[in-house]
Amino acid sequence: MDESAKLVEVSSLSFAHEQGGQAQQILHNVSLHISAGEVTVLTGPSGSGKSTLLTIVGGLRSAFEGSVNVLGTELIGAPSATLVKTRRRIGFVFQQHNLSDALTVAQNIQMGLQHSGGHRRPDAAERITDIATQLGLRDHLKKYPDQLSGGQQQRAGIARALVGRPQLVLADEPTASLDKRTSESVMALFDELASRGGAVVLVTHDKRILDQADRVLSLEDGKVVPTADVMIEDAGKVLGKLMSSEPARLRRLLGYAHGLAQVAVADGKVVAEERAVIRQSLLDRGVLQPREVDLVMELALAQADAIGTDFLGSEDRNQLAAALRDVAEADERVVEAELRTIEKLLS
Ligand code: ADP
Ligand code: MG
Repeated sequence: MDESAKLVEVSSLSFAHEQGGQAQQILHNVSLHISAGEVTVLTGPSGSGKSTLLTIVGGLRSAFEGSVNVLGTELIGAPSATLVKTRRRIGFVFQQHNLSDALTVAQNIQMGLQHSGGHRRPDAAERITDIATQLGLRDHLKKYPDQLSGGQQQRAGIARALVGRPQLVLADEPTASLDKRTSESVMALFDELASRGGAVVLVTHDKRILDQADRVLSLEDGKVVPTADVMIEDAGKVLGKLMSSEPARLRRLLGYAHGLAQVAVADGKVVAEERAVIRQSLLDRGVLQPREVDLVMELALAQADAIGTDFLGSEDRNQLAAALRDVAEADERVVEAELRTIEKLLS
């Protein structure tokens, strides 16, 4: 299947809760897409609408405005039979594990197969054992939920969601009560599902998981906000890592990128065609992966755009002079080359 296929496309979605006869607007004009092959993290403060959005995408709640296309089906205004059919193709992991107390772990996991219509498969028993083993539940299959720890219950909920190998998984804080090792194995399962052309959307605040996501979407007050902070942090990490693995090659590439960027910004604006040429030229050098090249290019463009000190006020200029000297003195010896550079920058 097409790797970049959009499994979920939400456009201009608005949603309100009725409360005491009054409508409380929860989601405002939300637009986003989820592509096959990706693990997307949905983050944001408590009450920002993450769970609400997940239940709408999962066909568990009907919304009234906008468009929500999931696995090729428009959910807004769809009859309940359509919602049910779409739900069967989705694996849900809820904040509360929602296991049935009257069933054993194995039976609960089997419910997941039944949900997806796969319980009559000849390999059903094998699939249940496999997923339980991957989540460290093999020795607990015959137990009832109340005989398990909180973390084990949560893992059983995850096993139930994944056993039918759904194309789309929606998970609401699935690793909240899991230790580091277990949450890593859950992420590995999610990655595997994505690499088979599926997609995972997971709500989390867990820093370790944010770092592993292919994409991060942030909700604030029911609106999608740019994840600049997250991106900048990632960018710093990527560059730091590259710099320590191949310092000489990366420095040469940065110099090269910088030269190209200065030409691009010379006329005061950077157009898409210029970006494309720079990108290709950097890729041709064979030092970095495409995503890393994009990062280097955007940094070089941003930097080239800010180059020169003409725009500084006199106050800023004094501050810059002091900061430049601090940098030069940081290694406790100031050399001629450093002084010349400072002079040039301040001239
Ligand atoms: P999050 O998952 O980001 O913490 P939610 O989607 O659960 O946020 O909730 C978003 C907002 O919707 C909150 O202000 C919450 O109080 C409100 N809300 C959630 N469910 C209901 C409901 N059934 N009726 C009325 N308001 C609700
Ligand atoms: Mg929530």
